[in-house]
Amino acid sequence: MLSRQSLSSLTSCLNKYSICSLSLTPTHITDALRSSVCRYGTEAQPKTPSKSSQYKLVVVGGGSGGCAVAAKFASLGKNCAVVEPSDLHYYQPIWTLVGAGLKGFQSSVQPMREVLPESIDWIKDKATVFNPKENYIQLNSGERVHYEYLVVAMGIQLDYDKVSGLIEALENDSTVVSNYHPKWVNKTFPALQEFTGGNAIFTFPNTPIKCAGAPQKIMYLADEYFRTLGVRNKTEIIYNTSLGVIFGVKKYADALQNVVQARDIKVNYKHNLVQVDHKAKVATFEKLDDNKQVNFQYSFLHATPPMSSPDVLKKSPLVNEAGWVDVHKHTLQHNKYPNVFGLGDCTSLPTSKTAAAVAAQSGILHKNLSAVMAGAPTVPLYDGYTSCPLITSSKSCILAEFDYDGKPLETFPFNQGKERKITYDMKAHMMPTLYWRVMLRGRWNGPSTVRKMMHLGLNRQSKLT
Ligand SMILES: Cc1cc2nc3c(=O)[nH]c(=O)nc-3n(C[C@H](O)[C@H](O)[C@H](O)COP(=O)(O)OP(=O)(O)OC[C@H]3O[C@@H](n4cnc5c(N)ncnc54)[C@H](O)[C@@H]3O)c2cc1C
Repeated sequence: MLSRQSLSSLTSCLNKYSICSLSLTPTHITDALRSSVCRYGTEAQPKTPSKSSQYKLVVVGGGSGGCAVAAKFASLGKNCAVVEPSDLHYYQPIWTLVGAGLKGFQSSVQPMREVLPESIDWIKDKATVFNPKENYIQLNSGERVHYEYLVVAMGIQLDYDKVSGLIEALENDSTVVSNYHPKWVNKTFPALQEFTGGNAIFTFPNTPIKCAGAPQKIMYLADEYFRTLGVRNKTEIIYNTSLGVIFGVKKYADALQNVVQARDIKVNYKHNLVQVDHKAKVATFEKLDDNKQVNFQYSFLHATPPMSSPDVLKKSPLVNEAGWVDVHKHTLQHNKYPNVFGLGDCTSLPTSKTAAAVAAQSGILHKNLSAVMAGAPTVPLYDGYTSCPLITSSKSCILAEFDYDGKPLETFPFNQGKERKITYDMKAHMMPTLYWRVMLRGRWNGPSTVRKMMHLGLNRQSKLT
């Protein structure tokens, strides 16, 4: 159960940072969390490290990847520490449904102390310096934490400030929204409810992002909602994407092309949002083919921000030229420092950045890091598995699953490229429980075993080259 202490700290955090538009009471939160809370029995307590602490394993980041890995190594006890500054852990994949008014924001958040294993040390601070030659990281407090092995799982940085006027618009214009940030995801549904027609614009930036499907999922849900409001005939829905295709995998791109055509959605490729003037209600896009700028008047704007590796990592010796933690694509071991591993959105792994990918990576990282700890070699195991439930309405979803080669790697023995209710139900109702109760407890390594069973062992195997 949630303790009174964590309940009141969660309530005050949500209220303090205006994370929820309502003023919340502990009763609201208990009700919201009752169905999904991850129970370790007792709770992890933040620890202040002594001047120079030493651990066998340090995990930097307590998000999807960091929590899953910490749970897998929980038996190390106080020989393992997670460095994580936030009091709250978010289940971000549900924010698409929060933005569409289909789930409450509270269902996406748990106190960090509830999701980290109680047996390990939680160092509630930021890593600010990485020194892999001398095997330590430095914290914001100035303390050093030494390690034998390091796992980096710091996620991806949201660069809202790279689009001129966007933060100001998000702060001041109720029709400019973004599902990507806990502070702004709660603006989306009220803006949809208030919408009376005009241009509804959805953007995809000119950088790698987490969940490449999310910028368009909210668009399909908005389209459905505008139809129920009776304003769709007064509305132009426009998807302005920096990419040259609607989705990176042909099978699902073909299916999505049919969806946008059937729904009368206008797609402009190679259009990158560079400026928002919320007073004039104009969004400016750079056309990536000819570098010319083009203005769009908007009545509703859902912005997906540019993203990049966290600044702290960019200036560290751990990254490749593009700033991502430089790990081997099949073993997740660092390419230069063998006692360092990485997983999730901050890494160089050339696959789509999703929690589904993180689940698969966490099992492989556990195997290979355990091998290295035991003096054994790593094994190339990760095929780039990732998944994106492309929600197309509140009753349908295309469940994309694929590998490094962009080849479908589907779990179920039916065509997942077809819009289906069952895959929507899985995304909306089953996956949150799988996340909180199984993945964060280190017990979900992705669906490869289920896939084998479903296909009677005859499923395609990815080549690890
Ligand atoms: C709107 C939206 C929809 C999505 N939909 C889906 C979906 O349908 N399916 C899916 O699989 N995925 C989806 N995702 C993506 C998924 O949430 C991420 O890919 C996943 O959370 C990545 O896990 P991670 O551990 O790499 O990073 P995160 O979970 O983001 O965790 C990173 C952690 O690192 C911490 N950190 C950052 N800097 C430091 C520092 N200096 N020191 C210490 N700690 C630090 C952060 O506080 C954070 O807790 C979606 C994401 C969004 C935003």
